[in-house]
Amino acid sequence: MKKQIRPAQPQWLADNYKKWATAWAKLQKKGGTFQWAWHPIHKVERVNKEITKILLDGMTQGHCSFCDAFPIETTGVTLEHFKPKSKYPLLAYTWNNLYPCCNKCQEKGDFYSWLLINPDNPRYDFWDYFIYEASSGMILVNEAEDKSHLDRARAFATIKIYGLNDHSRPEMRKRIYKQLLKADPADYKDYAYRFLMDF
Ligand SMILES: [Zn+2]
Repeated sequence: MKKQIRPAQPQWLADNYKKWATAWAKLQKKGGTFQWAWHPIHKVERVNKEITKILLDGMTQGHCSFCDAFPIETTGVTLEHFKPKSKYPLLAYTWNNLYPCCNKCQEKGDFYSWLLINPDNPRYDFWDYFIYEASSGMILVNEAEDKSHLDRARAFATIKIYGLNDHSRPEMRKRIYKQLLKADPADYKDYAYRFLMDF
């Protein structure tokens, strides 16, 4: 997970997020079979398209916020609610709760734990929480003595919930890490798993 800096939210979202979230919360409260749908914008688009574009351009440089897959379009891209909209309906349009995310990380679904690490937390740094095991391609919890139980628990939860070692991810990471080692630092942005080169 690469450290990210979140850009300012667009004015149209600041002006509307409360209203849209309140409408969703009301619908949800009624029960029944209300399907979630992002609010429309520009008549033909929906706001998730616009928000995803702003965050891919301005925050993740076309990568998944959590696993750093690149280009994210090859895996399918969704706009993830960090705190799920089913349990936190009033955060459904809150800028800091929205992250562009690949389809694999999206499998997290409605699961949420307060232990999960936000990649755009100003205090977050990959190596504070994790280590990279080059032989296996796995991301592991940083168990160094100076790490608190809480730091370790947060790293463990983040690896588990986003499935960072699931599927063929360790194998892919191994392959791309070898390419990164030979790459020009100016080109790291064009690779997945850029965080491995952040020292
Ligand atoms: Zn991902």
